[in-house]
Amino acid sequence: MTNGDESRQVKAGVVGWPISHSLSPSIHGFWLEKYRLSGRYAALGIKPDDFDREFSALRERGFVGVNVTIPFKERVLEHAAEITPAARDTGAANTLTFRKDGSAHADNTDVAGFARLVKSAAPDWKGHDGPVVVMGAGGAARAVVWSLLAENVPRVFIVNRTVSKAETLCEHFGSRLEVASPGEFPGIGRTATMIVNTTSLGMKGQPDLVVDFEPGMRSATVVDIVYNPLKTGFLKAAERNGNRIVTGLGMLLHQAAPGFERWFGVSPEVDSELHETIARKLR
Ligand code: NAP
Repeated sequence: MTNGDESRQVKAGVVGWPISHSLSPSIHGFWLEKYRLSGRYAALGIKPDDFDREFSALRERGFVGVNVTIPFKERVLEHAAEITPAARDTGAANTLTFRKDGSAHADNTDVAGFARLVKSAAPDWKGHDGPVVVMGAGGAARAVVWSLLAENVPRVFIVNRTVSKAETLCEHFGSRLEVASPGEFPGIGRTATMIVNTTSLGMKGQPDLVVDFEPGMRSATVVDIVYNPLKTGFLKAAERNGNRIVTGLGMLLHQAAPGFERWFGVSPEVDSELHETIARKLR
């Protein structure tokens, strides 16, 4: 970042609680420096009780937009005048842009982040070629499912610990979705073109997601959106089975790009240097 007159700097940031773990300042900071832009991207820790008041004041404080992370992705929609279809259908937003009149535009760029991850890491994968198995039914699963449906995946099997949440997800997204039990996994895994982990299992400090991969599932591309560690136990097991694997850090990098472009006016590249810079922070 070039140090210029601070008052003229374009100001954006990330809002969450807690916020110290967020990698967004490092990602945006990398791009600000790379493109030599006079902008600032701040980490803004806001306590849940203060959220409505503090969020409403951001525009006045000179922010052009913010990323929003846990635990505010859902409730921030109450503050948005314009909501993209991806944010509306997933019920969550992570990228808010303030208009000149002070109103906010809300988008869920996890959806595009997942789509771009797949396009860059598995360019020959085609949604219409067959079913996909999604492990998990939380907020990230909604973004992944939205993205898969947009890619014309004919059938999405949802496997989740809490079956009622899987049912709710299927009701919400319609007839191409189906709840499956872990016991059904070997069968559906053999027909799948892709198997995606969207649970928080495998994250640093959490137990691994254990899946019995077998040779008959080898044609599936296996994706884990967990990015810390970079290669989860789930991905290692898939790799040992001979599956193509896709790690989750790229989704985090790609979801950041639309906000950066809207706020700072440059379409940033997600390249190997950025990937390596952020990966180094995780190691
Ligand atoms: P969430 O809404 O809290 O959902 C968590 C999911 O994990 C639920 O399906 C939950 O199942 C399941 N789960 C948690 N603990 C479990 C356990 N012990 N056994 C079995 N299932 C368990 O969280 P989220 O926002 O969807 O995020 C999920 C993961 O995705 C996180 O690791 C997050 O960092 C990652 N993520 C990555 C990106 C990226 O850019 N790469 C973007 C978004 C999220 P139940 O329904 O049974 O509780």
